[in-house]
Amino acid sequence: MSSIIGTLGALLREKKVSCKELTKAYLDGIDRDNGVLNAYVRVTGEQALKTAAEVDRKIAAGEALSPLEGIPMTLKDNISTRGIETTCCSKILQGYTPIYDATVWQMLQKQNAVLLGKTNMDEFAMGSSCETSCYGGAANPFDTGHVAGGSSGGGASAVGGNLAAYALGSDTGGSIRQPASFCGLVGLKPTYGAVSRFGLIAYASSLDQIGPICKSVEDAAVVFDAISGQDPMDSTSVGHKDPVSPQLAQKPEQLAIGVVKEYFKGVDPQVEAAIQNAIRTYEKLGAKVVPLSMPAISYALPVYYILACAEASSNLGRYDGIRYGYHADHYNGIHEMICKTRSEGFGPEVQRRILLGSYVLSAGYYDAYYKKAQNLRGAVKKGFDETFAQCDVILAPTVPMTAFPKGFAGQDQVQTYQTDICTVPVNIAGLPALSIPCGYDQKGLPVGMQLIANRFEETKLLQTAYLFEREMAGEIYRKEEWGCRTYA
Ligand code: GLN
Repeated sequence: MSSIIGTLGALLREKKVSCKELTKAYLDGIDRDNGVLNAYVRVTGEQALKTAAEVDRKIAAGEALSPLEGIPMTLKDNISTRGIETTCCSKILQGYTPIYDATVWQMLQKQNAVLLGKTNMDEFAMGSSCETSCYGGAANPFDTGHVAGGSSGGGASAVGGNLAAYALGSDTGGSIRQPASFCGLVGLKPTYGAVSRFGLIAYASSLDQIGPICKSVEDAAVVFDAISGQDPMDSTSVGHKDPVSPQLAQKPEQLAIGVVKEYFKGVDPQVEAAIQNAIRTYEKLGAKVVPLSMPAISYALPVYYILACAEASSNLGRYDGIRYGYHADHYNGIHEMICKTRSEGFGPEVQRRILLGSYVLSAGYYDAYYKKAQNLRGAVKKGFDETFAQCDVILAPTVPMTAFPKGFAGQDQVQTYQTDICTVPVNIAGLPALSIPCGYDQKGLPVGMQLIANRFEETKLLQTAYLFEREMAGEIYRKEEWGCRTYA
């Protein structure tokens, strides 16, 4: 599919539509459909129209527009926005308004990106269906009886439902790629360090990365170029060497696609069929397909849930009822105040993870769980290093199934954690990966294919995805997605 960002930008430049009209059209869409999709938890219409007026002024004055200028978009509710409430969709942060902007939002504001609002997410990004949000879950635009995925479900629901041109989400263990897969979109998790985390409210700091959820690979490349870069405010940030967009259409000189058999264990046959089809497409395009094995993948899920919970238990220690948001009403003394605030303010999934994380870090269990998981993190990284010695890009399912029906994820936590099996290995190793649509199941729900590259090889990753997108355009992407549908 061609770029919606490019298409809208051209309409603005050619004065076929004003930025105010464009912004209003999106705001009207939100008015009409958000009651059903629940993609937005906060709409910032006034601010959006103010930015639109500035863009219209520039157009009238004949000034050049940058690629994202005037394009309506959204931010996940864990990305700090000065003066705009930011809650991580948790009761404990209700009423909290940051006094500074996340670096990614500063970068986009410089381009006059039009922020339509903050989007729904699992509470503190902990979940796979958006249903742990204190605002209730976001619906899947393909079938509103199904979830949009998680944790960045609101962003995917908004972009899939044509309520934003693109969204920024965060991915700690799959939260950009999995909702993109469920909603038929392209979701990119950049290399750890490529994009600044400053102002991203931390879940698990050694795994978190911000990235785009878009309608096409071209769009993902443009947004990645706009938000990547070294940032002195994030000591783990490195940036990215050069912009991807100008090189996107170049075919990688040689392309060996690794198909790692462990990624296919327990995958739904309809998902597997769509992925096998994609593998054949790459072969047709001249890629060499290399069958591989990476036994260390089997450690990834327990390693992820131990490390993510350990880091979360420490990061979430700051919500004590004094510094941020929610504060319990009746209590005797400071200890009871903190205890009541945290018991009332955090939802059950967040409490479960804080307890799990505190347990694996406690004196008696540290060696048996946390330390062991850290060692095995090294084994997963090594597994990827060995795999990338034999191929350029790994191709795998993004999720073993298509979008869950609403209510599925709350039934059995362990079963829900297991659905993250294909996405978490990449975060453990700090690699870049994306999800791109590659077909549909019999219910008409999208199937996502995951492409994984070595560290800082976003250019090769996006070029490989673009190759597929161009080949499949029209077959995979549905025309009606471009128009605004109604869901009521
Ligand atoms: N589903 C995973 C979890 O619940 C991933 C979440 C994320 O990437 N933020 O931890």
